[in-house]
Amino acid sequence: MSRRSDLDALLDGIRENDRASLGRAITLVESNAAGDRLQAQEILTSILPATGKAHRIGISGVPGVGKSTFIESFGLRLVELGHRVAVLAVDPSSSLSKGSILGDKTRMEQLARSDEAFVRPSPTGGSLGGVASKTREAMLVLEAAGYDIVLVETVGVGQSETAVAEMVDFFLVLNLAGAGDELQGIKRGIFELADLIAINKADGGNLQAAELARVEFERALEILRPADESGWKPQVVTSSGLTGEGLDAIWRLIADHHELLSANGFLERRRNRQLLGWMWSLVDEGIRTAVRGHSDVAAIAATLERDVLEGRTTPTAAAERILDTFNA
Ligand code: GDP
Repeated sequence: MSRRSDLDALLDGIRENDRASLGRAITLVESNAAGDRLQAQEILTSILPATGKAHRIGISGVPGVGKSTFIESFGLRLVELGHRVAVLAVDPSSSLSKGSILGDKTRMEQLARSDEAFVRPSPTGGSLGGVASKTREAMLVLEAAGYDIVLVETVGVGQSETAVAEMVDFFLVLNLAGAGDELQGIKRGIFELADLIAINKADGGNLQAAELARVEFERALEILRPADESGWKPQVVTSSGLTGEGLDAIWRLIADHHELLSANGFLERRRNRQLLGWMWSLVDEGIRTAVRGHSDVAAIAATLERDVLEGRTTPTAAAERILDTFNA
């Protein structure tokens, strides 16, 4: 078979939501091999008109907050409502070391078995920017296959939350009730990022503590987050992935947000900003790789580093020298 008809068959498979084709396409998107990348870009360019129609929702929280339990219940509920749900992940730990926080296959078993759902672990290898970019491209593939809700999971550590907030329409942060937890939240900057905060595991003996935490978080939000220019007011709710409590209310809020931002143009603005941000972040990363990999730069780098450390030159002067060398 020719390469062309291979590609056409793969494109047909994507449009028909054939799982094997989706798996192959996403594997190409996640690959670092130059040939695969070319093919992936060809595929993405072909499907581009069929993308962008899904409701993109980011879900974050520290390990143990109950993300996978929550996403499984939430996803199954959305399937019951007639949606087709894709679950993707951005887990930088799975690229930095083998110790993935999110990615093992036994998670969300029930949801993964549903015909109306597609669950994919985080891509591995490369920088956070690279991992995030692959997740965005996998999202496009799944949108072209007709998934109308994409849940992007990430861990509440480091820059991964910002990376996911930059690829979704709505960002939900799960938290736990516990003394000082809202201070942890402030440190992580979630009050700036979150469109909604859910105090999770609000069930059993934890119910009262969760309600107290909700009020605390609400207070913090009031101070730290003046009204968005989009007109959306971030809120704090309680939830339990285990009992399902609060999940319907969360879906209603997410739908309200979507309706508001679709009507007033802010959804399009958010997505446009994200697209250009994505493009330039890849340019930045490419330049960084090119500079560091440049043989003339490599030849002077060690000496310059030593000069900076031993006080013979300033970081600014050394950086200029490196850039001049690269540009020459
Ligand atoms: P993740 O690391 O954020 O994905 O968290 P998991 O979903 O794997 O859950 C971590 C632990 O918390 C597991 O032992 C779950 O059974 C438990 N858990 C998850 N969700 C809930 C919840 O809503 N209520 C209670 N009580 N426990 C939960």
